[in-house]
Amino acid sequence: MRRFLAALLLWALILPAAAQAKVYESTMILVNKQNSLPSDYVPGDLSRPNVTYAPGVPESRKQMREEAARALEAMFSAALEDGIGFMAISGYRSYWTQHDIYYTRLKEAGEAHVSLYVAQPGKSEHQTGLAMDLGIEGYLDLSERFADTDAYRWLSEHAHEYGFIIRYPQDGVEETGYAFEPWHVRYLGVQAADVWARGLTLEAWYRQKLAASHLLRKRSFRLYKPLG
Ligand SMILES: [Zn+2]
Repeated sequence: MRRFLAALLLWALILPAAAQAKVYESTMILVNKQNSLPSDYVPGDLSRPNVTYAPGVPESRKQMREEAARALEAMFSAALEDGIGFMAISGYRSYWTQHDIYYTRLKEAGEAHVSLYVAQPGKSEHQTGLAMDLGIEGYLDLSERFADTDAYRWLSEHAHEYGFIIRYPQDGVEETGYAFEPWHVRYLGVQAADVWARGLTLEAWYRQKLAASHLLRKRSFRLYKPLG
């Protein structure tokens, strides 16, 4: 009996954690200024995409979740066939890596800059393992100049075919809370095509979906918290 109770207690403790991990591991997870990941969340299936990287990228930041990594490989090789040589710059970042980046940038650039460009620890999509910053030769500095390249135009037209969206589009700041980041792609999987076709930010897409479906609202309340 005692053993049974101990087992029951163990399940009670483990189950909520397991259920939570499952929510965080949805490729549709919404992480932004309103929705945080816990400091100890590390995706369980990190993998190193077999793609070209910008010089000096640390091994730990080359990773993405398994499904996203394979999709990135497919996207990079399709782009290469069209003459675009993408290079990956920054994928998965742990809570504590983001913590260091955030406070370093805060010291260097100040509050106004970081609030538009750098997520606080726990609020970065890079912690999901579903995001990648990318560029091409000569455009590896994560600057808006990248938007003037054929590579960016290719990305705008084709990223969704591989399950990616440009997560922080031009004029999206009111929705996303971040300035235009033409270099930051986010893996969503099949829904990327729908987000792209509707021309919405992920926040606006979720708002539309939730407004349309009470069921979804009930089921995905932990994936998404409405703004404000
Ligand atoms: Zn990024």
